[in-house]
Amino acid sequence: MPKVKNKCNVCGKVFPEGQGIVITVEEEVVALHSSRCAVKFLKAIIDELEPAVSKEVIGRVKKNFEEVLSKRMLSKSKRI
Ligand SMILES: [Zn+2]
Repeated sequence: MPKVKNKCNVCGKVFPEGQGIVITVEEEVVALHSSRCAVKFLKAIIDELEPAVSKEVIGRVKKNFEEVLSKRMLSKSKRI
């Protein structure tokens, strides 16, 4: 069975499955061959969103990461 090839939505580079970043949101598939293209795409998404919407989503995502970080800090301090 031939491997599925993905085409980067930012630069057009074709890359094999298992490499790069492929994000699926409902029927929408975004293929990104490198983290550089992923960052470009992420910035473009934020630019397209309504500032009020992106502000709320960014705040929520930041909070989620902060929770992960503080949990990691706790487990680290327990080890000492
Ligand atoms: Zn690319």
